Amino acid sequence: MNNQAIEAGLRKTLGELEERLTKVRSDMSKGHSADFAEQVTERENDEVLEGIAAETQASISDIRAALSRIHDGTYGVCIRCGRAINAERLTAVPETALCMTCASA
Ligand SMILES: [Zn+2]
Repeated sequence: MNNQAIEAGLRKTLGELEERLTKVRSDMSKGHSADFAEQVTERENDEVLEGIAAETQASISDIRAALSRIHDGTYGVCIRCGRAINAERLTAVPETALCMTCASA
C-alpha cells in the first residue's frame, strides 16, 4: 500500500472517530433527571461514556501523529528503535508508531 492510500484510510477513520467523540460528548452533556435512582444510572452511563471518549481521543491522537509522520516522511519507521515497521503490521494497525518488537517490549 502506498502512503496516499494509507493517508486516505487514516483520514476516513479520523472522521469517524471525531464524529463518535462529538456524539458521546453530546450524550454526556444531556443533564440529569430529578429522580435519584435515575441519577445513579445516569452517572454510571457517564462513566462508561467518559471511558469511550478517552479511548476515542487517544485513537484520534495516534492517527493525527501518523498523518504528521506521513508528511514528515518518517511514516513506517519505528519511533523507538528507528527500524522499518513490518508492512503487515502497518496494514493491520496503520496508525502504529512502533514496530512489533518495541510494541511488545
Ligand atoms: Zn522498534
